[in-house]
Amino acid sequence: MALLKRRYIRTFAVIIGIVFSASLSALFSASEHENIVSDFEFEVERKAAAFSQTLDMNFEALQSISTLFRTYPDTGYLMFKQEAQRVLQRHSGIQGLEWAPRIFQEERTDAERVMQLHFPEFSFTHISPHGNMAVAKESQEYYPVYYVEPYFGNEKVLGFDLGSNPRRMSTLIEARDSGQAKATASIRLIQETENQRGFLTMVPIYQGAVSTLAHRQKNIIGIVLAVNRIGDIFVMSQHGELPTDLSIRLFDITNPKQVELLFDRTPKDAILSDDLRYTTSLPTVLGRQWKMEVTATKAYLAGKKSMTPIIVFASGIMLTAFFTAYLSLMFRHSGLVEKEVIERTKDLDFANNELRKLSQNDALTGLYNRRYFDEYASREWLRAQRTQTPLSLLLIDVDHFKRYNDCYGHHAGDVCLKQIASALQHALMRSQDIVCRYGGEEFVIVLPDTTEPGNVAERCRAKIAALGIEHNGNEDKGKVSISIGAATAVPRGANQFQDLFNAADEALYEAKSSGRDCTVIRTGDVESDPLPDEDLRA
Ligand code: GH3
Ligand code: MG
Ligand code: MG
Repeated sequence: MALLKRRYIRTFAVIIGIVFSASLSALFSASEHENIVSDFEFEVERKAAAFSQTLDMNFEALQSISTLFRTYPDTGYLMFKQEAQRVLQRHSGIQGLEWAPRIFQEERTDAERVMQLHFPEFSFTHISPHGNMAVAKESQEYYPVYYVEPYFGNEKVLGFDLGSNPRRMSTLIEARDSGQAKATASIRLIQETENQRGFLTMVPIYQGAVSTLAHRQKNIIGIVLAVNRIGDIFVMSQHGELPTDLSIRLFDITNPKQVELLFDRTPKDAILSDDLRYTTSLPTVLGRQWKMEVTATKAYLAGKKSMTPIIVFASGIMLTAFFTAYLSLMFRHSGLVEKEVIERTKDLDFANNELRKLSQNDALTGLYNRRYFDEYASREWLRAQRTQTPLSLLLIDVDHFKRYNDCYGHHAGDVCLKQIASALQHALMRSQDIVCRYGGEEFVIVLPDTTEPGNVAERCRAKIAALGIEHNGNEDKGKVSISIGAATAVPRGANQFQDLFNAADEALYEAKSSGRDCTVIRTGDVESDPLPDEDLRA
């Protein structure tokens, strides 16, 4: 039972230990994840801020070119080139700077001819439905690219009529009508050789009044524009370092119904995490609203995760193991103590039993001793008094035992006494009948609830006779014999146990006087008539 309990306690401790370790580890893991998420979001915000800052710087660069045209509306190519080069040197994210004047239909031929003096192939162009550059169709007005810096790499753009392309033209109109710098939606640049998306930023240049829309529409003389490749700007904003464990995407959300993907930098073969994605909106610039969406890869998460939750779990399990081992030791120890206590108790019981035996029994014969007789007899006397039942006593004395000792020696006398004791014991049939050694060669038998002690007395004498122990000193009998004095009484009135004892003693005296080896019985009320009239002789 105790073993089962201990097993339960140990199992319980193990379960509690595991649950506690797992919970603690989960707690650490959750808090670590929270930190990773907040670090990640901070990193994304930092990237977005750097990107916005680079965009702003590019727009500032554009402003400085537009100032040139505002100041000198008929800025020549060399002046433009000089200023453009200076700007581009400091803003490497810009693909090119351009000047596109407004040319009316009636000016087209002359304009083309003038430009052909420098660029023999020059003509106003547009993008044909097949995607090639082709001679621009007739239109009321044109915005052909006149100047482009750097020239190399952007040659194809020269002569391209911005007005021929709806996306470019709509932003151009917006810029013209508002008088403010504007950015186009994402476009595929004419000079694009890779697969990057680009956009144009435009600043309208006027000559004359610009206070009303009509003025602006009438007085526009051209557009200064910067050509931007989104990927390049982004890489530049990050100082050329692109993370290999993050997927970065830029979207144009100016028109929520037509969200456009501007830039997608997802590392090859990356496995993206499902729960670590963060989107942030960039400040609106030149009328366009962009957002950056960054998703962490599984590799990013794995790199940020520490061993702490595992260490916490392992430590918890180790502590549990130590604790259960300690419990086992304690149980074992207490088991040993328990065992020892049981053994000691057994020893004590044994010792107590021995002591009891020593105090109750006679050392030579093993029969109850006189002390026990006194105790037992007075108890039975009280019971007899209570229940008004008869109590009988037999006083037994070995005949001429002094002579036996004299004849056969003291040791033989002892052996003889032991045999007599055993024989008397065997003469008793009921558990409440007891025989005690009263002293020397005298014995006493207590017979509760007995009116006829004669039968027991005769059985005792027969048993002794049956022993057939030689005793030449026992007159003519030649064998060991006993004399018995018996008395019976129902305790009444003031009579005492001593009266019963005395009666038995007197009967024994009488038996001795009558020639020994016989029983004399005293019956009747021992107090009123302690010496009965009749003797019963066996
Ligand atoms: P009677 O028939 O009148 O009783 O004669 P008796 O000799 O038995 O009586 P008495 O009282 O004179 O002697 C009793 C003797 O019993 C004395 C003693 O030597 C002997 N005796 C008493 N106790 C022991 C004992 O423990 N061992 C041995 N061997 N003898 C004992
Ligand atoms: Mg005697
Ligand atoms: Mg005797």
